[in-house]
Amino acid sequence: MRVDVVSIFPAYLDALDLSLPGKARRSGLLDLRVHDLRDWTHDRHRTVDDAPYGGGAGMVMRPEPWGEALDALATDDAVLVVPTPAGVPFTQIHARALAAEEHLVVACGRYEGIDQRVLDHAATRVRVLEVSLGDYVLNGGEVAALAVLEAVVRLLPGFMGNPDSLLEESHESGLLEYPVYTRPPSWRGLEVPEVLLGGDHGAIERWRHTQSLARTAARRPDLLPPSALLAPATVTDAQ
Ligand code: SAM
Repeated sequence: MRVDVVSIFPAYLDALDLSLPGKARRSGLLDLRVHDLRDWTHDRHRTVDDAPYGGGAGMVMRPEPWGEALDALATDDAVLVVPTPAGVPFTQIHARALAAEEHLVVACGRYEGIDQRVLDHAATRVRVLEVSLGDYVLNGGEVAALAVLEAVVRLLPGFMGNPDSLLEESHESGLLEYPVYTRPPSWRGLEVPEVLLGGDHGAIERWRHTQSLARTAARRPDLLPPSALLAPATVTDAQ
């Protein structure tokens, strides 16, 4: 997969050289290129922002450098990913869909965001996905880009040593993952649940499913399928 990230703080993306994403880059699974938006400015100060039309606080990213950057980078088959708190909530479903693409371009906004015409113009040519990381406001799109790319890259075929581990994650089955434990069996007076030590795989699977349901009901009832909501006794039993 090829990924182009455009930012006025390209060093933010250095973290993608670490750990598994770094390995994916070195193995050729991921062709990641990080670009400085200011490379597409033409004035002495390399200006990327200006005051908002209509007034108000803050600055807006000017369309010209963004337009040139996207003309240069976003081939017609690319998906333009734009992190913004005004976007649709980014989910595992988006991560899966993006992992199946050949080419992503990620546009990291700053200040009050990018002039809307950049996105409107890009949408005449490429698919544009405006995504929010959550209901809070970051200073820039870089941290969101890191999160989106990490979620996507770990789903690339060949990225994970054991792809089965991907299927057991929270948000893959639709439920949150059950609690996990490792050695020692007793730590600071807290015991690993007996069922996990017994080797009865059927019982372990049932316990995990019940725990997943209970956790999801307690923390994210919005994720529960209607069938689970019709059977609250199962959830209560698990708590
Ligand atoms: N004025 C914008 C608004 O109210 O929607 C917020 C701009 S924010 C200060 C600057 C940049 O940070 C955004 O353009 C976006 O790239 C990024 N950003 C902030 N919060 C985000 C979030 N929750 N999810 C994704 N990106 C976010």
